Amino acid sequence: MKENIDKQWSFDTLCVHAGEGVDTDTKAIRRPIHMANSYEYPIDLTELLETLSWEHLDKFQYTREHSPTPRHLEERLAVLEGGEDCIVSASGMGAIAATFFTLLNSGDHIVASEVSYTGTQKLLGFHLPRFGVDVSLVDTTDPQEVSHAIRKDTKVVYVETPGNPMVGISDIKKISEMAHAVGATMIVDSTWSGLINQQPLSLGADMVIHSATKYINGHGDALGGAVIGPQKMLADIREYGIVHLGACISPFNAWLILRGSVTLPMRMEKHSQNALAVASYLESHPKVKSVTYPGLKSHPGYEVAQKQMKAPSGMLNFNLKTDMMAHFDFLKELQLITHAVSLGHDQSLMVYIPTEFFFEDMVVFNDAQKEKYAGLMGEGIFRFSVGIENSEDIIADLRQALDKMP
Ligand SMILES: *Cc1c(COP(=O)(O)O)cnc(C)c1O
Repeated sequence: MKENIDKQWSFDTLCVHAGEGVDTDTKAIRRPIHMANSYEYPIDLTELLETLSWEHLDKFQYTREHSPTPRHLEERLAVLEGGEDCIVSASGMGAIAATFFTLLNSGDHIVASEVSYTGTQKLLGFHLPRFGVDVSLVDTTDPQEVSHAIRKDTKVVYVETPGNPMVGISDIKKISEMAHAVGATMIVDSTWSGLINQQPLSLGADMVIHSATKYINGHGDALGGAVIGPQKMLADIREYGIVHLGACISPFNAWLILRGSVTLPMRMEKHSQNALAVASYLESHPKVKSVTYPGLKSHPGYEVAQKQMKAPSGMLNFNLKTDMMAHFDFLKELQLITHAVSLGHDQSLMVYIPTEFFFEDMVVFNDAQKEKYAGLMGEGIFRFSVGIENSEDIIADLRQALDKMP
């Protein structure tokens, strides 16, 4: 790492300088991309042993383990989250799977959010039980439910906040205390916060996970994931989860994400401003049935969001007073906003999630849970990742499409 990084610098400064520096070989002012899958071994035995050891992350042998460009991204993200170390991976799911399969053994108990990213739900609801892990899925936006689910032998508490796709807000500080009371490891998927808006480690979490595909990269062109936390735990996750299971990142994608992350603070400010403007517009529109955005006072998690987030980020959901099929007509009318999955990109992205589809992803929902979420979602919701275009242009696009609705 650049020798003179001051961890007290603001996010704006750290996003430019952490993990960046002058290339020692050429004096280039940007570090180069190292597109190599292996590195020449030293012939000296002592040096070789150092290269083979996990303690020397600046000595390289094979890119599935660690390599220079991904390591630069790890340096930046560790500093930004205030953690001891970071591991980057091929995708957000690569990071989550590596973490679960390292920390959990057959017979262990995990408490996790009952609503979260689709892939995470499939891991929690389907794959972990295949390997004998005992999974309790509860509404983590209600600390009471978490408290009832945590047992003396709970090993991991896993919370996604803000949560996909309901933008639910879970109280990181409160839940971390509950987890630590039984010696469990508290992990937060902080992807939807956009990193600079929420600092889970300073609120008590042990580890933070990101899909770097989203806000951190921000430009819709690469996939990546990250886990940030204590060195000892991360060393295990690197060895078991990344080296043995294989979800290592391409150096090129790591470079794209490093490049994209330079402007993260500016982008996040704009995402939050735009999302608030869009949410307020939609909330006052007579054809809109409901809007869920943690920056609106009507959001049940507004108070907690105000407390634990710097700004409410760029994700919201809404639905219309019309029937389900008319929601697809609405998508057809949009000219600026793109109908696509993923989120946190420069451009605005929107998808329609019919409630029936959502239930298929939440693999272990019981009837009470289905009833609760059908009550919140109606027949379905638009998940809207508000981009960094001019907010008036985004609102104008929504307006012209809403004008054509019955
Ligand atoms: C997208 C996403 C993931 C998965 O990340 P990939 O990079 O797509 O694998 C995990 N968690 C959340 C909250 C996400 O939005």
